[in-house]
Amino acid sequence: MKTYKTYLDYAATTPVDPRVLETMMPYFRETFGNPSSVHTYGQQAEATVEEARETVARGLNCRPEEVVFTSCGSESDNLALRGAALAARRERDARHILISPVEHHAVSHTAQQLAALHKFELEYLPVDDAGKVHPREVAKRLRDDTAVVSVMYANNEIGTINPIAEIGALCRERGIPFHTDAVQAAAHLPVDVTALNVDLLALGAHKFYGPKGVGALYVRAGTPILPVQTGGGQEHNLRAGTSNVPYIAGMAEAFRLAQIEREVRISHLKPLRDRLIGRVLEDIPSARLTGHPVTRLPNHASFVFEGVDGNALLMLLDVAGFACSSGSACKSGDPKPSDVLLALGLPPRWALGSLRVTLGMDTTLEAVDAFLSALPGLVEKARKA
Ligand SMILES: *Cc1c(COP(=O)(O)O)cnc(C)c1O
Repeated sequence: MKTYKTYLDYAATTPVDPRVLETMMPYFRETFGNPSSVHTYGQQAEATVEEARETVARGLNCRPEEVVFTSCGSESDNLALRGAALAARRERDARHILISPVEHHAVSHTAQQLAALHKFELEYLPVDDAGKVHPREVAKRLRDDTAVVSVMYANNEIGTINPIAEIGALCRERGIPFHTDAVQAAAHLPVDVTALNVDLLALGAHKFYGPKGVGALYVRAGTPILPVQTGGGQEHNLRAGTSNVPYIAGMAEAFRLAQIEREVRISHLKPLRDRLIGRVLEDIPSARLTGHPVTRLPNHASFVFEGVDGNALLMLLDVAGFACSSGSACKSGDPKPSDVLLALGLPPRWALGSLRVTLGMDTTLEAVDAFLSALPGLVEKARKA
């Protein structure tokens, strides 16, 4: 077993950028105060959090008061869905929730719980064979009693980017809160909440070279929302708990860098991604790209191979020194095809053989080529297994 692994799983998480880590350090031991304290320690910590809020707001093109810091992308999705749905129930007796069938579990399981425990009617939008939601399908399903609509910006499993601005415009017209999970998208795509016509937008720092354990939710001023975590009055009464000052500072710096370096990062990633997709489809028989061929994240390549055990392939790749993903958290022993891949209409025989390869700032051409040399033999092996 190789000790050095080539990391090709940036959609799962990214390493913390050294510049981000450096930004965080003073807030562990020097400026360590509780932002809610009255004394100077507290004031300094509060200033740090508010500065971070301004930085994130600049990247989102919103007001600082519209940014709520949370503990992760999942928490942001929970607050958006549960908070907006319960507020809409209270204010206007809304009963209907509309989501796409390819949402991250942070959204879909939250919506399912709202249906099971709070009697919301959960409706799924159709997607095309690239996993894309079409605005006309949203328009057809919006109702006066729709509490909240949630469609992810870019899909973590298949990389497809959704037409968020168009969907948002339709919801806005009807006065229905619209949430987008931008946790995967934010590393690469502009997240201008005004241009996107969203009321709620979730971020998670560890997907864009920030630390794990911190996220944010954009809440457009005036959007009815109830807190999910109750207690103190932090985060404009929307998220109780002492602010994680070093992580919030780190998230803001990582987000700032993602905005100013976006073009440079994309021009590094896209040619590598295109080389990878082209060669895999050329070199490997019975292989298909999943997700949209063009409207997809610049670092994201995802495939299915007919008759392959996806978990076996991942283990063979790991032994060969490549850290990849199947795209979904599917447990070995009980291989179930992912809901997302089934929603695309893929037969289980194909959907079970999924592979996601996601690139990052540190990915080199040499690493991609080494991967491309190794993959065909390993797919053959996983087919026989
Ligand atoms: C990673 C991810 C999440 C969850 O974010 P965490 O910060 O890991 O909780 C939610 N949605 C999408 C699309 C993701 O990629």
